[in-house]
Amino acid sequence: TQAHVEAVAAARPLNAYLVETPDQALAMAEASDARIAKGEGGPLEGIPLGIKDLFCTEGVRTTAGSKILGDFKPTYESTVTANLWRDGAVMLGKLNMDEFAMGSSNETSAFGPVTNPWRSGASNKPLTPGGSSGGSAAAVAADLCLGATATDTGGSIRQPAAFTGTVGIKPTYGRCSRWGVVAFASSLDQAGPIAKTVEDAAMLLTSMSGHDPKDSTSLNVDVPDFASFVGKPVKGLRIGVPREYRVDNMPAEIDALWQKGVEWLKEAGCEIVDVSLPHTKYALPAYYIVAPAEASSNLARYDGMRYGLRADAKSLTDVYEETRAQGFGTEVKRRILIGTYVLSHGYYDAYYLKAQKVRRRIADDFDRAWETCDALLTPTAPSAAFGLGENSADPVAMYLNDIFTVTVNLAGLPGISVPAGLDANGLPLGLQLIGRPLDEGTLFSLAGAVE
Ligand code: GLN
Repeated sequence: TQAHVEAVAAARPLNAYLVETPDQALAMAEASDARIAKGEGGPLEGIPLGIKDLFCTEGVRTTAGSKILGDFKPTYESTVTANLWRDGAVMLGKLNMDEFAMGSSNETSAFGPVTNPWRSGASNKPLTPGGSSGGSAAAVAADLCLGATATDTGGSIRQPAAFTGTVGIKPTYGRCSRWGVVAFASSLDQAGPIAKTVEDAAMLLTSMSGHDPKDSTSLNVDVPDFASFVGKPVKGLRIGVPREYRVDNMPAEIDALWQKGVEWLKEAGCEIVDVSLPHTKYALPAYYIVAPAEASSNLARYDGMRYGLRADAKSLTDVYEETRAQGFGTEVKRRILIGTYVLSHGYYDAYYLKAQKVRRRIADDFDRAWETCDALLTPTAPSAAFGLGENSADPVAMYLNDIFTVTVNLAGLPGISVPAGLDANGLPLGLQLIGRPLDEGTLFSLAGAVE
């Protein structure tokens, strides 16, 4: 913990941590030592972690990457972080992220972007670590923690993991409690870990998971020891390769990466099957209707009355308007506008209802796929990490980053990104494995075989 506290302080130029909690970290580590000395101690005893700033941490500033939360210090702890502390983990601080988790590059954070610790051999320019969990991924990749919490609404665990050569898993919807996690799009949001190895990710997910009566969508199912799946033989498993994911303009190196993944799994004894997910092309438009719709509703609570920022204005309406005008960034405002529009009378049926129907079709596609395969293999993202500022002026170009990840959230399935080597410029690339509901175990076995 001491070494990590020092490394975090020395790496401030990366901007991965928004809040450092060195005193708390050292006190937690001492308590861990005492438990270990007594022969007690949990499965994560003394393991220093970074926490995405979307998780409420009791008494520790929680911003969700936004100015509107001001100096908000929650009076309660999120269930996921409480589970980690119960098992002995140590908190190093809170990690930077896109504002309210809306973004794919960490550039919508009100506190500035995070820099990817990886540099391209060709240009050496600063790159994005991906988003929205950019702080989590960068901190893990730069050895500023042993693992981190993250959240994934449309790819925010898996894409940053791919961009930083780390492992990230979004579990089945309902596996981890959302209680105390600042809400973006509640029917899509899931917590999960980003870690250095598949085994570390498995250990963290075991601790983070579990039924929570405080979240009505939390699943009341047993949590297996996920680490026991790592290293299990994968011989005989059927791996689907969805043909619709071979999108137009897919860079040759992403195609080659995918092919390499197929070869590795074949060598490990898997059977490769061709699969069709015919509604894939509607996933991105459906996601960018459902997610903003839910966000516009969830973010209505930031009214200048209940949290941090309150603008100085004459009337109640002016306080609302001014607070929201000053407190939210451009991307968040864009989502609120889109969401309010698609939910409004006269447009609801054409957009929101339609998107919900598409969502059903996408889930049905996966259900059909599970008749012939046990998991699916795809690239995690359509490119390696791109330069800071490269896509920030074009929201649609930014949204295209999520092309391989949003289907998983729309269908509530588990998906893992595992590092799969480097591109021609020496940048990490990730492969994604998608599993049946609650079958994270198989994903850990397969990811272990790819790793
Ligand atoms: N990039 C996607 C978005 O901006 C996903 C974000 C996320 O998973 N939190 O909505």
